[in-house]
Amino acid sequence: MTYDYDLLVIGAGSGGVRAARIAAGYGKKVAICESDKVGGTCVIRGCVPKKLFVYAAQYKKMFKAAEAFGWDIQSQFNWPTLLNNKDQEINRLNGIYLNLLSNAGVELIKGFGSFVDAHTVAIGGKNYTADKILIATGGTPTVPDIPGKQHIITSNEALDLKQLPASITINGGGYIAVEFAGIFNALGVAVNLVYRGQQILRGFDDEVAQFAQQSFVEAGINIITDCEITAVEKTEQGLVCKSNCADIHSEVVFFATGRQANTEHLNLSKVGISTQPNGQVVVAKDQSTSLPNVFAVGDVCNQNNLTPVAIREGHYLVNRLYANGKQFPEYDFIPTTVFSQPEIGTCGMTEAQAKAEYPNIECFTSTFRAMKYAMSEVNEKTLMKIVVNSDTDQVLGMHVCGADGGEIIQGFGVALKQGLTKTQLNSTIGIHPTSAEELVTL
Ligand code: NDP
Repeated sequence: MTYDYDLLVIGAGSGGVRAARIAAGYGKKVAICESDKVGGTCVIRGCVPKKLFVYAAQYKKMFKAAEAFGWDIQSQFNWPTLLNNKDQEINRLNGIYLNLLSNAGVELIKGFGSFVDAHTVAIGGKNYTADKILIATGGTPTVPDIPGKQHIITSNEALDLKQLPASITINGGGYIAVEFAGIFNALGVAVNLVYRGQQILRGFDDEVAQFAQQSFVEAGINIITDCEITAVEKTEQGLVCKSNCADIHSEVVFFATGRQANTEHLNLSKVGISTQPNGQVVVAKDQSTSLPNVFAVGDVCNQNNLTPVAIREGHYLVNRLYANGKQFPEYDFIPTTVFSQPEIGTCGMTEAQAKAEYPNIECFTSTFRAMKYAMSEVNEKTLMKIVVNSDTDQVLGMHVCGADGGEIIQGFGVALKQGLTKTQLNSTIGIHPTSAEELVTL
């Protein structure tokens, strides 16, 4: 049986692009289909533009701290300039991705892919066949079905608001909610952060989540907990969120209430590809679906929803398929960062997870004001915490909430993944004066 392609990838996001170009590099005939720009959520409407906005927001604090160092800065923020430069940067990255694909010899087919049979995908009214097919369609924001849903924006629109609003209500207490709350707050928008539970950042270490929540409040974010928004109404003054706690008024309402897999239009059930009740593609350890020649990587099939995880899954998959690769992604000790302000870098177990798994654990924490803010009126503090198995001395988890938390944890994450012990940690000499040195002296 001959096919048009050895590999057809559906979705040109981080995981799909990596898999396509590596497979082409192994001499395979590869096509990738995409209806939007190339780069996926991360590059176009996720990590990259969000991080650019985070940088923009951080200047506020730096300008404030600068006064103590002798600088007299007259600053004025211009939202259209940021939007315009962000768009240019995304176009530049889109161009790089396009070059990566064409230099590798991958054919780009514009349009949505939809399965016709196990080896055939329809794209723009034309059928394409392939020996193997990779689903890498990612995810999309979900908003609960409440009255006034049409007035609600998601992270997709938040990155392209024509004007910076005077006020915004953000619903949710996860990554996206707290990241955007920090961005808008620093840019001068009055922010209500509404969360249905008691404590935002569920799943993070409790002490870290509490510290972060307190820091966000001190930075000026109005956090409303135990509050469920039940409807959004439009009035002449703006939008009103009706809830079980109060009427919450703002110019913009933004829900960051989770994401769902992009599988709706793929016609998966017709060809016998199993999905979970939440729409995610069911995959085995080798990324194969219920059809042995069809695979899936990234947010469309995993719980981690992190770009580097999708890239690793795609890369190792084609290594195994076409280059005798033997490696599988490992999902323990994945370092991750919430780009809130202050930011949260974390790797490994929370205190609660460690207690549930091991009989004897010990936690070490330190809270301090980073030197760069010490002389200034910026009151932001840093929390560092490690969770240790007292019986084996292994460091089970490390958490930083403070400036550069992500950069710090990326480095320590390497050691944690290799089974770092508390004794080894303390045998390392610190770099003085840094914030990170605190972690080797706890
Ligand atoms: P999360 O799953 O992190 O958070 C969703 C939030 O919405 C939770 O606080 C949840 O509450 C709340 N929620 C869910 N459903 C409802 C509802 N019906 N009504 C009210 N509140 C609701 O999702 P995000 O959208 O923030 O992010 C999605 C994923 O994307 C993240 O989990 C992460 O993996 C990834 N991501 C990673 C980033 C990074 O690495 N920096 C940045 C952005 C996203 P509850 O806690 O009660 O469930």
